[in-house]
Parts: sequence; structure tokens; C-alpha cells
Amino acid sequence: MGRRNRKVGKLDDDKQIAPEFAVQKTLKMRHRRWWKRRLLRLGCLGIVALSIVLAVLLVTSTVMTKVAEQQNVCQPDEEAPVITINGDEIITLVAGRGEYTELGATAIDACGEVAVEMEGEVDVNTAGVYRVFYSATDNFGNAAKVRRKINVLEYHGTIYLTFDDGPGDYTAMLLDVLAKYNIKATFFVTNNGDDAIIAREYDEGHAIGLHTASHNYAYIYASVDNFWADLIAVQERVARITGYTSKLMRFPGGSSNLVSRNYDGGKHIMSALTALMDERGFNYFDWNVDSKDAGGATTADEVYNNVISALKIGGESVVLQHDVKSFSVEAVERIVQYGIDNGFIFEKLTADSFNAHHGVNN
Ligand SMILES: [Zn+2]
Repeated sequence: MGRRNRKVGKLDDDKQIAPEFAVQKTLKMRHRRWWKRRLLRLGCLGIVALSIVLAVLLVTSTVMTKVAEQQNVCQPDEEAPVITINGDEIITLVAGRGEYTELGATAIDACGEVAVEMEGEVDVNTAGVYRVFYSATDNFGNAAKVRRKINVLEYHGTIYLTFDDGPGDYTAMLLDVLAKYNIKATFFVTNNGDDAIIAREYDEGHAIGLHTASHNYAYIYASVDNFWADLIAVQERVARITGYTSKLMRFPGGSSNLVSRNYDGGKHIMSALTALMDERGFNYFDWNVDSKDAGGATTADEVYNNVISALKIGGESVVLQHDVKSFSVEAVERIVQYGIDNGFIFEKLTADSFNAHHGVNN
């Protein structure tokens, strides 16, 4: 409106000049406005046309790339997809004691991922050999099929692997082996070794038992007070590291040891100590399978043979080993493999476990 008013104002001024000049001026202005509008319209049309051309180019190039990709990658072939089983191809379980988790499989061929079909069932409560089949067929009809084998074994017994006197130089290696097979063991620890190893034992789900701080027979078996102080010292160490106050313990030499006789002056200290453990709510554990790694055995082969030949078929085996001995730790993987292949399960000790008490001699 303001613009128009100004123009009107100009025309009003023009009334003062000669009428023929005023007409000429008006015509010139109209002519200029007509050109302006024409140019504006042409500009708009140009932008629209350019956009259309760009869009067509974009669509064409996308389609061409897709066609090229299909031509390059997905040409008909005679090769079957490659199926990869997730997890182990052979799994061994003990009937009624293990779980089977179906991890499936993936299939790939030149055109990418192919759907996998699965058939077969596993009854984890009934011994037998089970197979799960995985098959996949690509766009050109090439098919592949692979299988997983699941051995469900009869239960042949429970093994409690126990390791005394550590932590030692080989304990970390031992923990690696136990982790590899997802087996939990029991460590009767002393004041030896690094705190970090005890922390790792605890964090990885193993049981931590107490084996006295000093493991010094002459001191601990000289009096009930000495023994108690030494036991509490290692209990406090474990609690400081893990926050867990253990009441699982093993006497150095076992509850049947005769060495203590040398130091207690014939006062029947083992009877007094086992009674004290009961009274104070501790559980003491002996063993019924001796690897003889503390005397007799000096190689991993001997340790392995001593253990597997003494396992209680259908029963519970508390195995004594020392994680401060390299050859004993070296034998553990073979013992574990033997146990898995022969229907044994592995457990850690708890307050309610079978304790394999030897019986006290003094
Ligand atoms: Zn010991």
C-alpha cells in the first residue's frame, strides 16, 4: 500500500508537467515492469527444471549402482552357503546335571546372509547322543547342512578340585584353565601370594577356604590359642580382600595328621581343634583322592594318574592338590577333560558339601 501511495503521489506531481510527456513516462514504466515479471517467471521455471534434472540423475545413478551390485555379487553360482555353528560343535553334558543352551548357527553366501533352519532336540535328562542339524539354501537352490553333537552322559560322580597352600606362582594359570571349562574349585589359602589372586579366585566364583596364615606346624600345633590366632589371621586377610568371612577350612596335614603330635606335648590337639571348629561354626574338609603332589608324585603324568585312578565312581571325590606346585597345576586340564568325558561333574565345596573326614588320631 505504501508503494502504491508513493506512485500515486508521483502521478499527482506529474500533473504539473505536460500531459504528452506524462503518458510517455507511464508507458516506459509499464514496459519495465512487464520485463521484470517475465524475468522472474523465467528464473523460477529454470530452478524447477534444474531440480527435476538433478532428481532424475540421482534416481538413475542409485538404480544403476544397485543393478551393478547385483550383477557383480549375486550372479547365479553353484556354491552352497557356508554355515557356522555358534558355540561348540560337540557338547558333553551329564544327564540331569547339565543345561543345553541352543546358540544356533549363521549362514553366509556370495549374496550375504542366508536364513538357517534348525531341527533336532536334546533331552538333557536322558543319557544318549543327540544331534541338532542346521541347514541353509541360497537363492539359486544350493543347500548346506551341518550338525552339532550333544553327548548326554550317565552321571558318574562329583569331583571337588581343591588346592592348598596358595596363592602361588601357578595359581593364575590354574584359574585360566578353570575359566576355560567354566569349572569352580576350592582354594584353601594361606598368607602366601598376591592379594589380587585371592580377589580373582573369589570374583570368578571359586570357594575360598582357610589353611592357616603361617602353615607352620611347630607354631600352629603347639597350642589351641596359636592355631586359632593363625586361622583368624588368614580369615581376616580373605575378608579384607573379598569382603567374605570364610568358615571353610582345612588343617595343614589334614585332621588325621600325626605331625601335630610332635608339637602339642601329647595333649590331643587335633581332637581339641576339631571340636573347636564345630563349636565356632567352621567346616573342616579333608580329602579322599590324593594326587600325592606333596610326596610321591613329581610329574604332571603321575598327578593325573593318581587322581583319575582314585575317583569314586558314582560318588563324591574331594581331590587334594597344591597350586604352589607347577607339575600339579599342569595336570589339571587333563583331569578336567577326563572328568567331562566320563560323566563327572565338578563342584566347589560349601558348608553343606561332603567333607571326606579322615578321623582324628590324636
Ligand atoms: Zn598345606
